[in-house]
Amino acid sequence: MRHVAIVGSGPAGFYTAEALLKSGSVAVDILDRLPVPYGLIRFGVAPDHQSIKAVARRYEKVALTPGVRFLGNVHLGADVSVEELLHYYDAVVLATGAPLDRRLGIPGDDLPGVVGSAAFVGWYNGHPDFADLAPPLGQPDAVVIGNGNVALDCARILAKTPVEFVGADIVAHAFEALGSSAIRDITILGRRGPHQIAMTPKELGELGHLDAAAPFADPDDFPPAGTDNALDPGQRKSVELLRGFAAAPPDGSKPRTIAFDFFAKPVAIEGDGRAERVIVERTALGPDGQARGTGQTYAVPAGLVISCIGYASPPIPGIPYDEALGRYPNQSGQVEDRLYAVGWARRGPTGTIGTNRPDGFAVAEAIDAALPPATYRSERDGAAGLDRLLGSRGCDPVHFADWQKIEAAEVAAARAGAPREKLVRVSDLLKAGGH
Ligand code: NAP
Repeated sequence: MRHVAIVGSGPAGFYTAEALLKSGSVAVDILDRLPVPYGLIRFGVAPDHQSIKAVARRYEKVALTPGVRFLGNVHLGADVSVEELLHYYDAVVLATGAPLDRRLGIPGDDLPGVVGSAAFVGWYNGHPDFADLAPPLGQPDAVVIGNGNVALDCARILAKTPVEFVGADIVAHAFEALGSSAIRDITILGRRGPHQIAMTPKELGELGHLDAAAPFADPDDFPPAGTDNALDPGQRKSVELLRGFAAAPPDGSKPRTIAFDFFAKPVAIEGDGRAERVIVERTALGPDGQARGTGQTYAVPAGLVISCIGYASPPIPGIPYDEALGRYPNQSGQVEDRLYAVGWARRGPTGTIGTNRPDGFAVAEAIDAALPPATYRSERDGAAGLDRLLGSRGCDPVHFADWQKIEAAEVAAARAGAPREKLVRVSDLLKAGGH
C-alpha cells in the first residue's frame, strides 16, 4: 500500500487521485484549505456555465472510492508543512492551482475600484476570501483588461440581466449587486490585435446573444480578411465572430455595450482617491509579434477596472519557486524527490479543465514509476500519522461526508431556478458541515 497526499481539491488534484487509483493499492488523502472541495470548479468556472461545473460529479465518485479521503479546512503551512507531509506519505502532490492575481504593475493599480480577476470571479462565485469585495457598480463605465476567456467571463457577468442568471449558481450578494448595477459601457482592452486573442469561439459567441448588451469592435483594428486563413480553425472562428461584431455596430436597442479595444495597452489608472479612468497607450505589433507602444495615449473612463491578465501559484516556504513564472519549477511534474506538482501549479494558468486530466495521469504515472511496487508495505504512517498530527494541533478537518451535509444545505437554500445557494463564510460552511 502506498500513501499519497494531494494538496488541493480542484480538477488537477482529483484527476491525479483518479489516475493513482488505477495504478494499484494506494491510499490517497486530498487536502484543501477551504472546507469545500472542487477548487476552480466551484470558485473559478462561471456560475452561468453549469454544464462545465457538472464534472464535479466525476470527482465525487473519486472522493467516495474506498481509500480516498477529502480533508478540507487544512491549511498547508499553518496546520501541516510539506516536510511533514513527506514524512507521513510516500509522495506529495501540489495541486494548489494558481489563485493569486498577477499585478498589472502600472501606476494607480492599487486604487480602490481596481480588482484582479481572481478577486472579482471569487466574489461572484462565493469564495470566502472575496465575499466582502463589493466592487463599485454604481457608475456607468467598466474596463476589463486582457483578451483571454477570463476577461470574457467578467465582461459577460457584468453585462447580464437577472433573468439571464436563471439556472446559475451566482451567489446572492453578487446577484443582487449586479441586478442594480449602473454599469452601461464595458470596454475590453487587448494590448495586441484580434489575431492574438486568447479567447475561444464558444465563449466569445455568447457575447453576441446577451439580452441587454451589444458587443462591438472597430473594423479598422482588423488585418485584411484573407490573413485569417493562416489561423488555426478555432482562432479563425473567434476572429470571424469579432468581425461580425465589427460589422454590426450597436443600434441602441440594448442599453449596455461591450467594446473591444485592440492595440490598447493600459499604462496608468487615474482618479481622485479611486479609479476613474484608464490611461491607454496605442500599440502596434513588433516583428516579434509583441505589443510595442506608439507613444499615443488616451483615457477610457472606468469606475471599475478588472485586470484579467493571468494568475500565479503561491510561494510555499521551503519549496523552490519561480517568481517570473509564478509556479514551482519541475521536471515533468517532479519538483523534488517524492514531491510533485500538477495542473496550474505545474504548468502555469493555461488550458481548460480537461487539460488537467492528462496532466494528472502523467504525474500519477511518474509517481508509480518512482515508488516501489504497489504491493510493498509502506513504512510511512499515511492517514493515521496525519490525523495524529492534525489532532495535536487542534485542526478539525472537514471530511467528504461533512461536505455532503454542506452541499445538501446549499441545495435546500437555492433561490428558484438555481441549483444551490453557496455559503460564503467559512464559519457558516463549518457549521453546515456539523463542526
Ligand atoms: P490567458 O488566456 O492567458 O489570457 C491573458 C490575457 O491577458 C492575454 O490576452 C494577455 O495578452 C493579457 N495580458 C497579460 N499581461 C498583460 C498586461 N500586463 N497588460 C495587458 N494585457 C495583459 O488567461 P486567462 O484569461 O486568465 O485564462 C486562464 C486559462 O483559463 C486559459 O487557458 C483560459 O482559456 C482558461 N479559461 C477557460 C474558460 C472556458 O473555457 N470557458 C473560462 C475561463 C478561463 P498577451 O496575449 O498579449 O500576453
